[in-house]
Amino acid sequence: MLTAIVGINWGDEGKGRMVDLLGSRQDIVVRYQGGNNAGHTVINHLGKFILNLLPSGILRPEIVNVMGGGMVVDIEHLCGEITRLREGGVQISPDNLKVSDRAIICLPYHVGQDILEEERLGDAKYGSTRRGIAPVYGDKYLKKGIRMGDLLEPEALKKQLAGIVAWKNLTIQGAYGAKAYDVEQLFGWLLQFGGPLREYICNTDLFLERAAAQDKRILFEAQLGALRDIEFGIYPYTSSSPTIAAYAPIGAGVPGRRLDNTIGVMKAYSTCVGEGPFTAELFGPAADALREAGGEYGAATGRPRRVGGFDVVASRYGVRVQGADELALTKLDVLSYLDKIPVCVAYEIDGERTGEFPSGRRLNQAKPVYEYLDGWHRDISGCRSIDALPAAAQRYIDYLQKAVDCPIRTISVGADREAYFTR
Ligand code: GDP
Ligand code: MG
Repeated sequence: MLTAIVGINWGDEGKGRMVDLLGSRQDIVVRYQGGNNAGHTVINHLGKFILNLLPSGILRPEIVNVMGGGMVVDIEHLCGEITRLREGGVQISPDNLKVSDRAIICLPYHVGQDILEEERLGDAKYGSTRRGIAPVYGDKYLKKGIRMGDLLEPEALKKQLAGIVAWKNLTIQGAYGAKAYDVEQLFGWLLQFGGPLREYICNTDLFLERAAAQDKRILFEAQLGALRDIEFGIYPYTSSSPTIAAYAPIGAGVPGRRLDNTIGVMKAYSTCVGEGPFTAELFGPAADALREAGGEYGAATGRPRRVGGFDVVASRYGVRVQGADELALTKLDVLSYLDKIPVCVAYEIDGERTGEFPSGRRLNQAKPVYEYLDGWHRDISGCRSIDALPAAAQRYIDYLQKAVDCPIRTISVGADREAYFTR
Protein backbone atom coordinates (compact mmCIF):
# COMPACT_ATOMS: atom_id res chain seq x y z
CA MET A 1 0.00 0.00 0.00
CA LEU A 2 1.63 3.23 -1.15
CA THR A 3 0.29 6.47 0.32
CA ALA A 4 1.55 10.00 -0.19
CA ILE A 5 0.95 12.95 2.10
CA VAL A 6 1.41 16.18 0.23
CA GLY A 7 0.74 19.90 0.63
CA ILE A 8 -2.12 21.54 -1.26
CA ASN A 9 -0.98 25.12 -0.65
CA TRP A 10 2.35 26.96 -0.20
CA GLY A 11 3.71 24.59 2.46
CA ASP A 12 3.35 24.59 6.25
CA GLU A 13 -0.10 23.05 6.01
CA GLY A 14 0.67 20.71 8.91
CA LYS A 15 1.95 17.75 6.89
CA GLY A 16 4.39 16.67 9.59
CA ARG A 17 1.56 16.27 12.03
CA MET A 18 -0.59 14.31 9.56
CA VAL A 19 2.32 11.98 8.83
CA ASP A 20 2.79 11.52 12.55
CA LEU A 21 -0.92 10.70 12.88
CA LEU A 22 -1.13 8.30 9.96
CA GLY A 23 2.29 7.01 10.85
CA SER A 24 0.83 4.64 13.39
CA ARG A 25 -0.58 2.62 10.48
CA GLN A 26 2.63 2.53 8.41
CA ASP A 27 5.68 0.32 8.20
CA ILE A 28 7.92 2.80 6.40
CA VAL A 29 7.97 6.59 6.01
CA VAL A 30 10.01 8.09 3.16
CA ARG A 31 11.06 11.66 2.37
CA TYR A 32 11.42 12.00 -1.40
CA GLN A 33 12.51 15.58 -2.15
CA GLY A 34 13.93 18.77 -0.70
CA GLY A 35 16.42 19.40 2.04
CA ASN A 36 16.52 21.31 5.30
CA ASN A 37 14.89 24.37 3.77
CA ALA A 38 11.51 23.65 5.29
CA GLY A 39 10.43 22.24 8.59
CA HIS A 40 7.76 20.05 10.07
CA THR A 41 6.67 20.53 13.64
CA VAL A 42 5.49 17.42 15.44
CA ILE A 43 4.20 17.41 19.00
CA ASN A 44 3.89 14.09 20.82
CA HIS A 45 4.31 12.57 24.28
CA LEU A 46 8.09 13.16 24.19
CA GLY A 47 7.73 16.86 23.45
CA LYS A 48 7.85 19.25 20.49
CA PHE A 49 10.20 18.42 17.65
CA ILE A 50 11.15 20.34 14.54
CA LEU A 51 12.19 18.06 11.72
CA ASN A 52 14.01 19.56 8.75
CA LEU A 53 15.55 16.46 7.16
CA LEU A 54 14.41 13.39 9.04
CA PRO A 55 11.11 11.78 8.02
CA SER A 56 8.35 12.31 10.59
CA GLY A 57 8.09 8.56 11.27
CA ILE A 58 11.33 8.89 13.24
CA LEU A 59 9.24 9.68 16.33
CA ARG A 60 7.68 6.20 16.30
CA PRO A 61 10.30 3.54 17.11
CA GLU A 62 8.60 0.75 15.11
CA ILE A 63 8.74 2.66 11.80
CA VAL A 64 11.63 2.49 9.33
CA ASN A 65 12.47 5.92 7.93
CA VAL A 66 14.05 6.45 4.55
CA MET A 67 15.67 9.56 3.12
CA GLY A 68 15.26 9.06 -0.62
CA GLY A 69 17.55 9.78 -3.55
CA GLY A 70 15.47 12.83 -4.52
CA MET A 71 16.63 14.64 -1.39
CA VAL A 72 19.53 17.03 -0.85
CA VAL A 73 21.25 16.52 2.49
CA ASP A 74 23.26 19.01 4.50
CA ILE A 75 25.17 16.40 6.52
CA GLU A 76 26.18 18.85 9.26
CA HIS A 77 22.52 19.73 9.76
CA LEU A 78 21.52 16.07 9.72
CA CYS A 79 24.10 15.21 12.40
CA GLY A 80 22.73 18.07 14.52
CA GLU A 81 19.14 16.98 14.02
CA ILE A 82 19.93 13.39 15.02
CA THR A 83 21.74 14.62 18.14
CA ARG A 84 18.85 16.92 19.14
CA LEU A 85 16.29 14.15 18.76
CA ARG A 86 18.42 11.67 20.69
CA GLU A 87 18.72 14.20 23.50
CA GLY A 88 14.91 14.41 23.45
CA GLY A 89 14.66 10.66 24.00
CA VAL A 90 14.13 9.52 20.38
CA GLN A 91 15.86 6.27 19.38
CA ILE A 92 17.77 6.46 16.09
CA SER A 93 19.77 3.58 14.63
CA PRO A 94 20.40 1.97 11.21
CA ASP A 95 17.34 -0.17 11.97
CA ASN A 96 14.97 2.80 11.82
CA LEU A 97 16.91 5.24 9.60
CA LYS A 98 18.21 4.56 6.11
CA VAL A 99 19.73 7.22 3.86
CA SER A 100 19.84 6.70 0.11
CA ASP A 101 23.30 6.44 -1.40
CA ARG A 102 21.88 8.51 -4.30
CA ALA A 103 20.87 11.54 -2.22
CA ILE A 104 22.97 14.59 -3.01
CA ILE A 105 25.08 16.32 -0.36
CA CYS A 106 24.51 20.01 0.24
CA LEU A 107 27.97 21.46 0.93
CA PRO A 108 29.05 24.71 2.60
CA TYR A 109 29.69 26.27 -0.82
CA HIS A 110 26.07 25.70 -1.78
CA VAL A 111 24.95 27.67 1.25
CA GLY A 112 27.59 30.29 0.47
CA GLN A 113 26.48 30.62 -3.14
CA ASP A 114 22.82 30.87 -2.09
CA ILE A 115 23.65 33.83 0.20
CA LEU A 116 25.92 35.51 -2.37
CA GLU A 117 23.19 35.33 -5.00
CA GLU A 118 20.40 36.63 -2.74
CA GLU A 119 22.65 39.53 -1.76
CA ARG A 120 23.55 40.25 -5.36
CA LEU A 121 19.84 40.40 -6.20
CA GLY A 122 19.15 42.91 -3.42
CA ASP A 123 15.53 44.07 -3.59
CA ALA A 124 14.80 41.56 -6.36
CA LYS A 125 15.73 38.60 -4.11
CA TYR A 126 13.81 35.31 -4.27
CA GLY A 127 13.34 35.05 -0.54
CA SER A 128 15.52 31.95 -0.40
CA THR A 129 15.85 30.18 2.93
CA ARG A 130 19.63 30.48 2.32
CA ARG A 131 20.20 26.80 2.99
CA GLY A 132 21.87 26.16 -0.37
CA ILE A 133 18.93 24.32 -1.92
CA ALA A 134 18.80 26.01 -5.35
CA PRO A 135 22.60 25.78 -5.90
CA VAL A 136 22.76 22.12 -4.85
CA TYR A 137 19.84 21.08 -7.07
CA GLY A 138 21.41 23.15 -9.85
CA ASP A 139 24.65 21.22 -9.41
CA LYS A 140 22.76 17.92 -9.38
CA TYR A 141 21.44 18.66 -12.86
CA LEU A 142 24.81 20.01 -14.01
CA LYS A 143 26.14 16.62 -12.85
CA LYS A 144 28.53 18.19 -10.36
CA GLY A 145 26.88 16.72 -7.29
CA ILE A 146 28.46 14.62 -4.57
CA ARG A 147 26.25 11.80 -3.38
CA MET A 148 25.84 10.27 0.06
CA GLY A 149 27.23 7.00 -1.32
CA ASP A 150 30.48 8.79 -2.17
CA LEU A 151 31.12 9.17 1.57
CA LEU A 152 31.71 5.42 1.67
CA GLU A 153 34.74 5.75 -0.65
CA PRO A 154 36.91 8.52 0.88
CA GLU A 155 39.88 8.07 -1.50
CA ALA A 156 37.78 8.47 -4.63
CA LEU A 157 35.76 11.22 -2.94
CA LYS A 158 38.81 13.41 -2.41
CA LYS A 159 39.69 13.37 -6.12
CA GLN A 160 36.10 13.99 -7.13
CA LEU A 161 35.83 16.86 -4.66
CA ALA A 162 39.01 18.54 -5.93
CA GLY A 163 37.64 18.60 -9.48
CA ILE A 164 34.27 19.97 -8.44
CA VAL A 165 35.67 22.62 -6.08
CA ALA A 166 38.04 23.91 -8.80
CA TRP A 167 34.95 24.33 -11.00
CA LYS A 168 32.82 25.86 -8.23
CA ASN A 169 35.50 28.41 -7.35
CA LEU A 170 35.30 29.77 -10.91
CA THR A 171 31.85 31.01 -9.90
CA ILE A 172 32.53 31.91 -6.28
CA GLN A 173 35.70 33.88 -7.06
CA GLY A 174 35.14 34.82 -10.68
CA ALA A 175 31.47 35.75 -10.64
CA TYR A 176 30.99 36.94 -7.06
CA GLY A 177 34.55 38.00 -6.19
CA ALA A 178 34.27 36.03 -2.96
CA LYS A 179 36.88 33.93 -1.19
CA ALA A 180 37.65 30.58 -2.81
CA TYR A 181 36.75 27.35 -1.02
CA ASP A 182 39.58 25.14 0.16
CA VAL A 183 39.49 21.47 -0.85
CA GLU A 184 41.24 20.23 2.32
CA GLN A 185 38.81 22.07 4.52
CA LEU A 186 35.78 20.78 2.64
CA PHE A 187 37.17 17.25 2.70
CA GLY A 188 37.62 17.58 6.46
CA TRP A 189 33.99 18.72 6.74
CA LEU A 190 32.83 15.71 4.70
CA LEU A 191 34.79 13.33 6.93
CA GLN A 192 33.68 15.01 10.16
CA PHE A 193 29.96 14.98 9.43
CA GLY A 194 29.87 12.13 6.94
CA GLY A 195 31.64 9.73 9.32
CA PRO A 196 28.80 9.42 11.85
CA LEU A 197 26.29 8.98 8.99
CA ARG A 198 28.07 6.17 7.15
CA GLU A 199 26.20 3.44 8.98
CA TYR A 200 22.85 4.77 7.69
CA ILE A 201 23.84 5.01 4.01
CA CYS A 202 22.68 2.16 1.79
CA ASN A 203 20.83 1.23 -1.38
CA THR A 204 17.41 2.27 -0.18
CA ASP A 205 15.90 1.58 -3.62
CA LEU A 206 16.39 -2.16 -3.10
CA PHE A 207 15.04 -1.94 0.42
CA LEU A 208 11.89 -0.11 -0.72
CA GLU A 209 11.32 -2.28 -3.79
CA ARG A 210 11.40 -5.39 -1.60
CA ALA A 211 9.10 -3.77 0.94
CA ALA A 212 6.65 -2.77 -1.81
CA ALA A 213 6.72 -6.31 -3.22
CA GLN A 214 5.84 -7.60 0.27
CA ASP A 215 2.88 -5.21 0.42
CA LYS A 216 4.34 -3.21 3.26
CA ARG A 217 2.59 0.05 4.07
CA ILE A 218 4.81 2.82 2.76
CA LEU A 219 4.11 6.48 3.34
CA PHE A 220 5.72 9.17 1.19
CA GLU A 221 6.13 12.46 2.97
CA ALA A 222 6.43 15.67 0.99
CA GLN A 223 7.90 18.92 2.07
CA LEU A 224 6.32 22.22 0.95
CA GLY A 225 3.15 22.35 -1.15
CA ALA A 226 1.78 22.23 -4.69
CA LEU A 227 2.38 25.94 -5.28
CA ARG A 228 6.10 25.48 -4.57
CA ASP A 229 6.52 22.67 -7.10
CA ILE A 230 9.28 23.44 -9.58
CA GLU A 231 6.98 22.59 -12.53
CA PHE A 232 3.51 23.64 -11.46
CA GLY A 233 4.21 26.18 -8.73
CA ILE A 234 4.71 29.94 -8.73
CA TYR A 235 7.99 29.77 -10.65
CA PRO A 236 10.56 31.19 -9.97
CA TYR A 237 9.35 31.56 -6.37
CA THR A 238 9.15 27.80 -6.13
CA SER A 239 11.38 25.32 -4.47
CA SER A 240 13.97 23.62 -6.67
CA SER A 241 12.44 20.14 -6.61
CA PRO A 242 9.11 18.53 -7.45
CA THR A 243 6.82 18.63 -4.42
CA ILE A 244 3.94 16.80 -6.05
CA ALA A 245 2.73 13.29 -5.33
CA ALA A 246 3.51 12.03 -8.83
CA TYR A 247 7.21 12.42 -8.07
CA ALA A 248 7.05 10.45 -4.83
CA PRO A 249 7.88 7.00 -6.26
CA ILE A 250 10.77 8.49 -8.24
CA GLY A 251 12.35 10.62 -5.53
CA ALA A 252 11.84 7.83 -3.01
CA GLY A 253 13.31 5.10 -5.21
CA VAL A 254 10.42 2.88 -6.29
CA PRO A 255 9.98 4.13 -9.87
CA GLY A 256 7.25 2.48 -11.86
CA ARG A 257 5.05 1.90 -8.82
CA ARG A 258 1.73 3.68 -8.56
CA LEU A 259 0.40 5.37 -5.47
CA ASP A 260 -2.68 3.80 -3.94
CA ASN A 261 -3.77 6.92 -2.07
CA THR A 262 -2.80 10.58 -2.12
CA ILE A 263 -3.79 12.62 0.91
CA GLY A 264 -3.63 16.36 0.44
CA VAL A 265 -3.09 18.48 3.52
CA MET A 266 -4.95 21.75 3.20
CA LYS A 267 -4.97 24.61 5.66
CA ALA A 268 -8.19 26.37 6.68
CA TYR A 269 -6.56 29.68 5.67
CA SER A 270 -3.50 30.69 3.62
CA THR A 271 0.13 31.24 4.57
CA CYS A 272 3.23 31.82 2.50
CA VAL A 273 6.87 32.19 3.52
CA GLY A 274 9.13 34.41 1.47
CA GLU A 275 8.66 36.37 -1.72
CA GLY A 276 6.41 35.78 -4.71
CA PRO A 277 2.80 36.32 -5.72
CA PHE A 278 0.36 35.57 -2.89
CA THR A 279 -2.97 36.88 -4.12
CA ALA A 280 -5.07 36.25 -1.01
CA GLU A 281 -2.63 38.12 1.25
CA LEU A 282 -4.10 40.18 4.08
CA PHE A 283 -2.31 43.17 5.60
CA GLY A 284 -2.42 45.30 8.73
CA PRO A 285 -4.26 44.33 11.92
CA ALA A 286 -6.32 41.59 10.22
CA ALA A 287 -3.09 39.88 9.12
CA ASP A 288 -1.40 40.36 12.50
CA ALA A 289 -4.35 38.81 14.32
CA LEU A 290 -4.41 35.76 12.04
CA ARG A 291 -0.63 35.32 12.25
CA GLU A 292 -0.77 35.45 16.04
CA ALA A 293 -3.77 33.10 16.25
CA GLY A 294 -2.06 30.54 14.01
CA GLY A 295 1.47 30.99 15.38
CA GLU A 296 2.61 31.55 11.81
CA TYR A 297 6.38 31.78 12.04
CA GLY A 298 8.62 29.55 9.90
CA ALA A 299 9.69 26.27 11.51
CA ALA A 300 13.05 26.31 9.70
CA THR A 301 13.77 30.04 9.76
CA GLY A 302 11.52 31.71 12.37
CA ARG A 303 10.43 34.22 9.72
CA PRO A 304 6.92 35.65 10.13
CA ARG A 305 4.71 34.04 7.48
CA ARG A 306 2.51 36.09 5.16
CA VAL A 307 -1.12 35.22 5.82
CA GLY A 308 -4.48 35.42 4.06
CA GLY A 309 -7.94 33.94 3.95
CA PHE A 310 -8.55 30.53 2.38
CA ASP A 311 -7.76 30.79 -1.34
CA VAL A 312 -10.29 28.80 -3.36
CA VAL A 313 -8.55 29.39 -6.71
CA ALA A 314 -5.09 28.30 -5.57
CA SER A 315 -6.37 25.42 -3.43
CA ARG A 316 -8.53 23.93 -6.18
CA TYR A 317 -5.47 24.09 -8.45
CA GLY A 318 -3.35 22.52 -5.70
CA VAL A 319 -5.80 19.63 -5.33
CA ARG A 320 -5.72 19.02 -9.07
CA VAL A 321 -1.93 19.24 -9.41
CA GLN A 322 -1.49 16.82 -6.51
CA GLY A 323 -4.11 14.42 -7.82
CA ALA A 324 -5.42 14.27 -4.25
CA ASP A 325 -7.88 11.46 -3.47
CA GLU A 326 -8.86 12.97 -0.13
CA LEU A 327 -8.03 15.94 2.04
CA ALA A 328 -7.03 16.63 5.61
CA LEU A 329 -8.11 20.10 6.70
CA THR A 330 -5.81 21.59 9.34
CA LYS A 331 -5.87 24.50 11.77
CA LEU A 332 -9.61 25.01 11.65
CA ASP A 333 -9.44 25.95 15.35
CA VAL A 334 -7.29 28.98 14.49
CA LEU A 335 -10.29 30.70 12.86
CA SER A 336 -12.42 30.48 16.02
CA TYR A 337 -11.64 34.10 17.00
CA LEU A 338 -13.24 35.55 13.85
CA ASP A 339 -16.79 36.94 13.52
CA LYS A 340 -16.65 36.77 9.75
CA ILE A 341 -14.25 34.45 7.92
CA PRO A 342 -12.60 35.92 4.84
CA VAL A 343 -12.45 33.59 1.83
CA CYS A 344 -10.79 34.47 -1.48
CA VAL A 345 -13.36 33.01 -3.88
CA ALA A 346 -11.94 34.23 -7.20
CA TYR A 347 -9.21 36.37 -8.74
CA GLU A 348 -9.70 39.51 -10.74
CA ILE A 349 -7.21 39.90 -13.58
CA ASP A 350 -7.27 42.73 -16.13
CA GLY A 351 -10.76 43.62 -14.90
CA GLU A 352 -12.11 40.10 -15.35
CA ARG A 353 -13.07 37.56 -12.73
CA THR A 354 -11.54 34.08 -12.98
CA GLY A 355 -11.50 30.84 -11.02
CA GLU A 356 -8.52 29.36 -12.91
CA PHE A 357 -5.10 29.69 -11.33
CA PRO A 358 -2.96 31.86 -13.64
CA SER A 359 0.80 32.08 -14.15
CA GLY A 360 3.38 34.69 -15.09
CA ARG A 361 2.24 38.29 -15.43
CA ARG A 362 -1.42 37.38 -14.95
CA LEU A 363 -0.64 35.84 -11.57
CA ASN A 364 1.39 38.87 -10.52
CA GLN A 365 -1.51 41.19 -11.35
CA ALA A 366 -4.28 39.08 -9.84
CA LYS A 367 -6.41 40.78 -7.18
CA PRO A 368 -8.38 38.76 -4.64
CA VAL A 369 -12.17 38.71 -4.68
CA TYR A 370 -13.11 38.28 -1.03
CA GLU A 371 -16.36 37.02 0.43
CA TYR A 372 -17.17 36.47 4.09
CA LEU A 373 -18.63 33.38 5.72
CA ASP A 374 -20.10 33.25 9.21
CA GLY A 375 -17.70 32.51 12.02
CA TRP A 376 -18.52 30.31 15.02
CA HIS A 377 -16.72 32.24 17.73
CA ARG A 378 -16.27 29.27 20.03
CA ASP A 379 -13.33 27.10 21.06
CA ILE A 380 -13.53 23.96 18.92
CA SER A 381 -10.24 22.36 19.91
CA GLY A 382 -12.07 19.77 22.03
CA CYS A 383 -14.45 18.66 19.26
CA ARG A 384 -13.93 15.06 18.12
CA SER A 385 -16.72 14.61 15.58
CA ILE A 386 -18.31 16.63 12.83
CA ASP A 387 -21.56 16.85 14.81
CA ALA A 388 -19.75 18.32 17.79
CA LEU A 389 -18.68 21.30 15.68
CA PRO A 390 -20.81 24.47 15.67
CA ALA A 391 -23.11 24.67 12.64
CA ALA A 392 -21.10 27.54 11.13
CA ALA A 393 -17.90 25.46 11.27
CA GLN A 394 -19.68 22.56 9.56
CA ARG A 395 -20.89 24.95 6.87
CA TYR A 396 -17.33 26.26 6.41
CA ILE A 397 -16.01 22.71 5.87
CA ASP A 398 -18.80 21.88 3.42
CA TYR A 399 -18.14 25.10 1.56
CA LEU A 400 -14.41 24.33 1.18
CA GLN A 401 -15.04 20.73 0.15
CA LYS A 402 -17.38 21.82 -2.60
CA ALA A 403 -15.12 24.67 -3.69
CA VAL A 404 -12.05 22.46 -4.22
CA ASP A 405 -14.03 19.41 -5.34
CA CYS A 406 -12.38 16.78 -3.15
CA PRO A 407 -13.64 15.02 0.00
CA ILE A 408 -12.36 16.38 3.32
CA ARG A 409 -11.96 13.21 5.40
CA THR A 410 -9.78 14.40 8.26
CA ILE A 411 -10.29 17.56 10.26
CA SER A 412 -7.65 18.85 12.62
CA VAL A 413 -8.64 21.22 15.42
CA GLY A 414 -5.41 21.58 17.37
CA ALA A 415 -1.69 20.88 17.35
CA ASP A 416 -1.85 17.97 19.80
CA ARG A 417 -1.72 14.40 18.55
CA GLU A 418 -5.36 13.67 19.52
CA ALA A 419 -6.86 16.96 18.33
CA TYR A 420 -8.51 15.66 15.16
CA PHE A 421 -11.30 13.47 13.84
CA THR A 422 -12.15 11.73 10.61
CA ARG A 423 -15.41 11.30 8.76
P1 GDP B 1 4.40 21.35 7.68
O1 GDP B 1 5.62 22.01 7.17
O2 GDP B 1 3.34 21.19 6.63
O3 GDP B 1 4.67 20.07 8.38
O4 GDP B 1 3.76 22.34 8.76
P2 GDP B 1 4.54 23.18 9.88
O5 GDP B 1 4.99 22.26 10.94
O6 GDP B 1 5.52 24.08 9.29
O7 GDP B 1 3.37 24.10 10.42
C1 GDP B 1 2.26 23.58 11.00
C2 GDP B 1 2.13 24.13 12.42
O8 GDP B 1 0.80 24.07 12.83
C3 GDP B 1 2.89 23.34 13.45
O9 GDP B 1 3.34 24.23 14.46
C4 GDP B 1 1.85 22.38 14.01
O10 GDP B 1 2.11 21.98 15.34
C5 GDP B 1 0.64 23.22 13.94
N1 GDP B 1 -0.62 22.53 13.67
C6 GDP B 1 -0.83 21.48 12.85
N2 GDP B 1 -2.15 21.18 12.79
C7 GDP B 1 -2.77 22.07 13.60
C8 GDP B 1 -4.14 22.31 13.95
O11 GDP B 1 -5.07 21.66 13.49
N3 GDP B 1 -4.39 23.36 14.79
C9 GDP B 1 -3.40 24.13 15.32
N4 GDP B 1 -3.74 25.13 16.12
N5 GDP B 1 -2.11 23.94 15.00
C10 GDP B 1 -1.80 22.93 14.17
MG1 MG C 1 6.78 23.67 7.48
